[in-house]
This record gives sequence, structure tokens and C-alpha cells, in this order.
Amino acid sequence: MQPGVNTVQDDFDILIVGGGLVGASVALALAKGLRVALLERAEPPALAVLPQDWDARIFAISPGSQAFLAGLGVWPSPRAGRIREMDVRGDAGGAIRFDALELGSEQLAATVENRLLQATLWRALQGKVELIAPALPQAFHADERSASVTLADGRVLRSKLVVAADGANSWLREQAGIAFSRQSYGQQGVVGNFRCARPHGDIARQWFRDDGVLAWLPLPDNLISIVWATDDASAAQLLALSPAALASRVAAAGGRALGDLQPLGKAAAFPLSLGRAASIIGTRLALVGDAAHTIHPLAGQGVNLGFGDAKALAALLDQACGRDPGDAMLLQRYRRMRAEEVLLMQSVCDGLQKLFALADPLSGRLRNLGLNLTNQAGPLKRAMMRHAFK
Ligand SMILES: Cc1cc2nc3c(=O)[nH]c(=O)nc-3n(C[C@H](O)[C@H](O)[C@H](O)COP(=O)(O)OP(=O)(O)OC[C@H]3O[C@@H](n4cnc5c(N)ncnc54)[C@H](O)[C@@H]3O)c2cc1C
Repeated sequence: MQPGVNTVQDDFDILIVGGGLVGASVALALAKGLRVALLERAEPPALAVLPQDWDARIFAISPGSQAFLAGLGVWPSPRAGRIREMDVRGDAGGAIRFDALELGSEQLAATVENRLLQATLWRALQGKVELIAPALPQAFHADERSASVTLADGRVLRSKLVVAADGANSWLREQAGIAFSRQSYGQQGVVGNFRCARPHGDIARQWFRDDGVLAWLPLPDNLISIVWATDDASAAQLLALSPAALASRVAAAGGRALGDLQPLGKAAAFPLSLGRAASIIGTRLALVGDAAHTIHPLAGQGVNLGFGDAKALAALLDQACGRDPGDAMLLQRYRRMRAEEVLLMQSVCDGLQKLFALADPLSGRLRNLGLNLTNQAGPLKRAMMRHAFK
């Protein structure tokens, strides 16, 4: 097809734009019984051999997300760590510890690499979904009868429902004219992987510090992955360090809890913001994942919220069997299903981030006291855990 030729070439029930973890999981969940296409602007992940080197982007995957992925046949992941305990330290003597045993479970969450999980999802999509990648969308149109996306090469993909899974800077959201409120935290999440001198014991460690929040997540082979959420200037300084100097800075910031750290690959940084789409639906359009909401990573919940969107949308369309998937009433139901959980999680993470950013001594004492009191309040702590690690 020549560029610029505007011919309807393909009709789908669902067209998903963005093949990251959330978009790929929506595609796989909807692939039974519906004609689904997945459009991704980047080169598709290499599928013949799954990536062997470690990805710097590691996510804590909640038990609920694991169950969702297991239902899609892509969990357990070929290489995942587990968080058996979580040890959280305040900035002035406060501490709280969460142990999976308190929930009668073996783990609070699993840790997995973004790239590996994405490749696993794409592998599972082969033959089930029309994969269009790399391809760049250029125009979006939707009306009561159908929606369409025009590609840069002139192809027009028509669909009953289009799903925006194209991340925090969603092109599709913008094309649909849906406003997105974004408050920058003025911070970056610096991520990197390290080998530890002492066993990490499957414990995730987190420190609320004057310069931000530092988390160490356990990986297999006694590795850890860090997320250091710190202001833009400090993040730039950390990234400018040599790998060895960064490793010793990270080890020192964590009180050398695991002895010396040895760097593994290159560190990277991602800007952090609280973002919310004015609506997660439009005409024949549903937003999922970071296209719909972004959140501070201190509780490691961003992609879990996205999997929650994917699961809700897939369940809704499954129940609606035979009905038009772009039906406005169905989409309204999707909006209602996701409103509470997303708002609650965003508010909790935003509140914690702001509470620990307050510099005055009284706030400092109160928040550390709060951590200690919660740690001792068995039922309250268990209720919190049941919600946070579901
Ligand atoms: C430092 C940091 C640490 C984090 N840690 C955690 C954690 O521990 N646990 C957790 O749950 N979450 C975590 N998150 C959040 C998590 O990274 C995101 O919520 C998640 O990656 C969002 O996935 P997504 O598929 O919605 O979007 P993305 O991963 O952004 O994927 C979007 C996809 O769309 C494609 N795309 C973009 N534009 C277009 C276009 N125009 N056309 C076609 N394709 C397009 C992109 O190439 C990409 O493949 C963290 C975030 C940060 C910044």
C-alpha cells in the first residue's frame, strides 16, 4: 500500500494502541472470540529467545495481578523474585514491617522485569491477535457507528472499540481531546540493579529519607533492583556517577544493610508525576494503564492498577458476549468499575509522598510515630496489608 492511500483495509472488534505490559495483557485477555489488533510504534520485542540480561525496570507484581496473568497463561514468569517481607524505615526512627506470614501467604508480591514480561506476553499473542508493529498512528476518528485509526503508511484500521494503552503521554488520549491533569513531583525514579554481598532474604527494604524515597526490591540470584525517587537535580547527580560510585552511594544510603553492592548494567531515570485523565472513556474509546493514570512509585502500584483496568475491561466485554464492544453504556460501566480503586491508590501514594516531604520537625515526629503505632496495631496493620498486597 502506498503512503497516503486512504483505503479501509481491516475491520476489528477491538484495536489496542500501545503494546506495553497493559496493552499486551488487554489484547491477550480479549483475544478469545473477538477480532483483536494490537498496534505498537516500537519494534516488537525479540521473541525467539527471551532476554537474558537483566532489565533495569523491575516491577512489584501484586498477587491479584499474578492471578490475572496466570489466567492468561503467562505466569509464573520464567525469572521472578519474591517479596516475603517488607521493611519500611521512616526518616526519624519510625519503622514498620510487613511479613507475608501475617496474611498466611508465602509472598507479598513478586518482582519481574518489564522487558521479560512484555516479551512473554507478546509470545503468547502470536497467532491470536493481529500484531501491527512497528507502525505509527497518525489520525483517530470515532463516531456512533465505528472508530478508526489511520496509520502513517495510509492504512486505515476500523474497529468497534479502540483502547488507548499508549502510556503516560498517550497520543490517542490527546487525539480524542481528553484532558489529562498532571502534577509533576519534581522527582525522577532512578532505577538500577545490583548484586549484594549479603543475602537479601527476599526482603524488600524502603527508606523514607530527606532526599526522597529509596526502595530495594529482591530479585533472584541475590540481586536487588532499586528505585530511588529523588528530586531532579539529585537524580542527575546520581546518573552522572560511575556505576561503581553509584553502587557505593546506594549501599551507604541503605545503611549497608546488604554489605557491598556491585553494579549490574546501566542505571536509568524516569520522571514521576501524579496524572489523571478527565475521563477514562470517550466515544468508542477506553483508556487503560498509564494512559488513564500515573502514580508515585513508592508503593509499586502503577502497573498493577493498569492490570486492574485490563482485567475489568476484559471481564465486562466477556460478560457482554455478542454486544457491540464500543457500546456507550458498557463503557460507562467500565468507568464506574475503575473509579474507586484508582482514586484510592492515587490518594494514598500522593498523601504518603507529601507527608514524608514535609520538612518541619513536628510533622517528622508525627509520621515516624504513625509508622511505629501502625506497626504495633495488629488488626489495623493486617487490614492495610490485605488491601495493599491483594
Ligand atoms: C521509576 C518507576 C518505578 C516503577 N515501579 C513500579 C512497580 O514496582 N510496580 C508497578 O506496578 N508499577 C511501577 N511503575 C509504574 C509502571 O512503570 C507503569 O505504570 C507501567 O509501565 C505502565 O504500563 P503501560 O503499558 O500502561 O504503559 P507503557 O509501559 O508506557 O507502555 C506504552 C506502550 O505504548 C507504546 N506507544 C506509545 N505511544 C504510541 C503510539 N502513538 N502508537 C503506538 N504505540 C505507542 C509504547 O512504545 C509502549 O510500548 C513504576 C514507574 C516508574 C517511573
